[in-house]
Amino acid sequence: MKILVINCGSSSLKYQVIDMDDESVIAKGLCERIGIEGSELTHKPTGKANYVVQEPMPDHTTAIKLVMDALVDPEHGVMKSTDEISAIGHRVVHGGTYYSSSVLVDEQVKKVIKDCYDLAPLHNPANLTGIEACEAAMPGKPNVVVWDTAFGMSMEPKAYLYAIPYEYYEKYGLRRYGFHGASHAFVSGEVIKMANLDPKTAKVIVCHLGNGASISASIGGKCVDTSMGLTPLEGLIMGTRSGSLDPAIVQFICNKEGKDVNEVINILNKKSGILGLSGGVSSDFRDIEAGAAEGNELCKSALEAYVLRVARYVGAYVAEMNGVDAIAFTAGVGENDKSTRKAVCEYLGYLGIQIDDEANDCRGENRVISTADSKVKVILLPTNEELYIARETKAIVEG
Ligand code: ADP
Repeated sequence: MKILVINCGSSSLKYQVIDMDDESVIAKGLCERIGIEGSELTHKPTGKANYVVQEPMPDHTTAIKLVMDALVDPEHGVMKSTDEISAIGHRVVHGGTYYSSSVLVDEQVKKVIKDCYDLAPLHNPANLTGIEACEAAMPGKPNVVVWDTAFGMSMEPKAYLYAIPYEYYEKYGLRRYGFHGASHAFVSGEVIKMANLDPKTAKVIVCHLGNGASISASIGGKCVDTSMGLTPLEGLIMGTRSGSLDPAIVQFICNKEGKDVNEVINILNKKSGILGLSGGVSSDFRDIEAGAAEGNELCKSALEAYVLRVARYVGAYVAEMNGVDAIAFTAGVGENDKSTRKAVCEYLGYLGIQIDDEANDCRGENRVISTADSKVKVILLPTNEELYIARETKAIVEG
């Protein structure tokens, strides 16, 4: 069974085709500048050279059609006919409180995506566009939605409610949702298998440290808490996002700098995090580490603040779960940066956590990086959101 996985942005469309017989990626690619001049498709068939198509893509339906043409291209394609695709899995960012698991697309699902436009104004409209483009280009094929917010739906009110007047929750759904759901669900599930933990009771913390970063705590695969909130702005320090802060800062900057709330929230999303802390050096960890190595004090303190924030959340989640069996690191920083992994774990010595430096000296592979006598297993586990979406899609269409 072949599954097409789609992750649609407002002007971009990423895809993968996964053969579920062995879960291998047979092709992947990216359409950029959809609806803008200079549209381009980069198609990467496994085992063959990349294929670049520069053709106008006025909308996502045209983009999908070009992807389908590339998939069956005699030279660059990976299948005879797109009939070989059994179903399409879509990443959709916000499902509000309506859905706590993946679902087959119907009119009601599309209505929910629209009803949640207020909660994810940049992502949900683009995600729906991707679904409708697939429906138009491949009529009759099942489309499945995998929600970024679904994993956080198992949080209890004590974890998801903000301490603000309750009527705002009732009227507007103002609560913590959490994001990166596919990644947290995938990694926590794989950690349970890899560490041979009891799938019903395992207490797992996943540190998804990418450009966007979040952390989750789950018991038996069910999320009990996760660090992003109503939006992805809450929680950890990220590449350009501030993470949690005193909300009065918004008012203060508005007054002092003559900005409105939208402008300040934009600054907190795009100009803060390690980019802001480093005095504008970079949002990329590699640049900040290079800066710190050259003696840049702001880069050093940015790294320290980043690590402290991760460790603080781990500590809080250990308390929340009254224990932890395994802690996993994933995504760009988590998978590649041994010094960040080590620095976070140094805060956790009190919990009996010990990193094996030799094992930790690696990147991007499934590996236990704690010592044999560490009280808690620490695991490096590359995330694979596309594979999670494909597995969910397969499970839904197989009933
Ligand atoms: P996202 O999916 O949120 O855009 P990724 O998970 O791809 O992000 O992570 C990207 C980030 O990972 C980069 O911005 C960079 O900070 C970090 N990163 C990538 N490679 C390395 C590396 N070798 N060492 C340290 N950090 C890295």
